[in-house]
Amino acid sequence: MSVAPRKLLEIKNLSFSYKGILEARAVISDLDLEINQGDYIAIQGPSGSGKSTLFHLIGCLLRPTSGVVRFNGQDVTRLNDDELGFFRNQNIGFVFQQFHLLPKATVLDNILLPALYPVETSVIDNAVKARATQLAKRLGIDHLLAREPNQLSGGQQQRVAITRALMQDPDLILADEPTGNLDSKSAMQAMDLFDDLNRQGKTIVIITHDPQTASRCHKVIHFKDGKVDRIDDHRKPSSESTPTKLKGLVSYKAPDSFVSTLKRVRASAPMALANLLRHKMKTFLTMMGVIIGIAAVLSMISLGNFAKGRILETYERLGVNKFELRGHAAWNLAATDKIPGTPFTGFEWNRDLKGLKDLFPEILYLSPQKEFWAEKYSYNGRTVTASDGVSLNFRGVGPEFFAIANTELHSGKLLSPFHVESLARVCVIGSDVGSVFGKSSLELLDQIVTFNINDRTLVPCKVIGVLKPRKGANGTSKFVFLPYSTALSFGNIWDSKLSDIMLSVRPGFDVEEVGLKVKNYFKKRYGKSGNFYVDSDSVLLAQMKRFLNIFNSLLAAIAFLSLLVGGIGIHNMMLVSISDRLKEIGLRKALGATNKSIRALVLSESVMMCSFAGLIGVIFGVIACQAGVYAATKLVKTLTFEWVFDPFAIGLASVSIVAVGILSGLAPALKAEALEVIEALRSD
Ligand code: ADP
Ligand code: MG
Repeated sequence: MSVAPRKLLEIKNLSFSYKGILEARAVISDLDLEINQGDYIAIQGPSGSGKSTLFHLIGCLLRPTSGVVRFNGQDVTRLNDDELGFFRNQNIGFVFQQFHLLPKATVLDNILLPALYPVETSVIDNAVKARATQLAKRLGIDHLLAREPNQLSGGQQQRVAITRALMQDPDLILADEPTGNLDSKSAMQAMDLFDDLNRQGKTIVIITHDPQTASRCHKVIHFKDGKVDRIDDHRKPSSESTPTKLKGLVSYKAPDSFVSTLKRVRASAPMALANLLRHKMKTFLTMMGVIIGIAAVLSMISLGNFAKGRILETYERLGVNKFELRGHAAWNLAATDKIPGTPFTGFEWNRDLKGLKDLFPEILYLSPQKEFWAEKYSYNGRTVTASDGVSLNFRGVGPEFFAIANTELHSGKLLSPFHVESLARVCVIGSDVGSVFGKSSLELLDQIVTFNINDRTLVPCKVIGVLKPRKGANGTSKFVFLPYSTALSFGNIWDSKLSDIMLSVRPGFDVEEVGLKVKNYFKKRYGKSGNFYVDSDSVLLAQMKRFLNIFNSLLAAIAFLSLLVGGIGIHNMMLVSISDRLKEIGLRKALGATNKSIRALVLSESVMMCSFAGLIGVIFGVIACQAGVYAATKLVKTLTFEWVFDPFAIGLASVSIVAVGILSGLAPALKAEALEVIEALRSD
């Protein structure tokens, strides 16, 4: 009793032409062909008759110019690339003419290749490996699993290719010239294998030019000039194969969710790693660029910031945390000018200064400052005149002035708020003031000294403190400090205005910034009635900062340039390696890799390469940076060695690593996924 055979593949009106330069060349025209389940068919024809083209058309590796290819009743020419990839992966086992095994991958990995796809859902677990091993055993190559293809004979490679074709348990096995590259003994053995597989229920289509190979099949389709010439049926009644259940067409949509992207990346990572390890030397040389780049970025930025910090610190130690605020009544005030409140004539303690620290917590100390002048100084009945060649500087200040000026007391005490409130006639003198009278300053402590202030008032003052000597531009050795309130009381109507305030800023705050804020506060408060100025050593500091920032940016720019060069290196290497690996990519696509998974693979490779290079680069960068710090301590004696950890530099380096990885891999990835399966497979 015979059951009507089930149609597995149905080809109708199939035409295919290669696009020539001038005109399309028809290779196959109006071909009708039916393949039933369990068939064992040879397609035989002379070289150049279009057999390989037909192989690719039946295998859905090539889209027909026109016509229909139905698989198990469904038109597969309508599927998109990804769906088609999945269809091939599940339903067709390919045995290519050149075998197309991945070089430098083990036999086991080669057999497992189709099982990797679709990457979003595939799992290579022990069960899958066991299946691969079992299939290998069935084909007698289980002892070769750890070898690489170039360590195998042609016959053995053929068996690996057939094992791989069986891996996904496809309904149809397609083989292109499976005996073409084998000696006659191996060819016979290969055909024995196909006989076996057919007996076990597989539908097999063998493409061959060799009549002897063809004669082993049950049906020979003679192919000539792209057309079926004649069909020979050698089927013996006893050779009926055991029909198996058809897998049929499973539809597949490449998932587009974030999770599936993650899965793709996760599945691609081991493949990418394996690919990189296959070319260790090339990978390492390419990585050198990024290693140097990242090391340069990290060490330059860290060192630059370190140097900047140290230099600014030095400046701050020298006293660049203070600024001077000056305010004058505006002389050009017009009658129409609007003024928010009382017009400004000068600073007043209660109105302007008392609450300033609460308004600006950045301010550490604050002291009014009033300079005045005295010509004659007397002590103990002896009078000296400034014109004798000795001169003293006089300044009215607040109690906090000494902290701002960084002057320390040698003996006695400093001015107190009480002295200011009571307009006390007391003074603190510099270390060299006594020399005016031929004494040491210490001898004047607790004594009364008289000054002829502003040429008018003779003011007796008690010396309550003597300052430590201080050298340099900010020296105070010839200074006499009185309470500012006392000093203001000496003046006339113009001179009794307070127009000068010294302020210092808490550590960590920017003097320039705070100075500007305070200035703007007064400007807003007094409108056009006052002119306010801020100046300080902060101008110098700001200049220094700007210089250091430019210097640092330059260093960083050079470092980034070298990173860019490294990135271009990786980009080039990836492009070259894509060209080297066209065949591999074509093969992966033929066996079911979607475009997205190819992209994930190539990007994974470049990101992985960059990350690893980056890691080494970070290590070298830290070493270079510490070496730089060490060298600096040898050159500049005041510096001490320290571990520099710059989170900004490390963060920037990490971001750069990933950016370089993705950017340098993007173009090669897009190039790889745009490849036509067939063109890629055919390339050498
Ligand atoms: P066979 O496998 O039977 O030797 P092919 O299918 O490889 O034949 O080739 C059939 C015809 O198509 C040949 O004349 C060949 O020159 C031509 N051909 C094959 N591949 C291409 C291609 N990529 N571009 C243009 N012509 C091609
Ligand atoms: Mg061929």
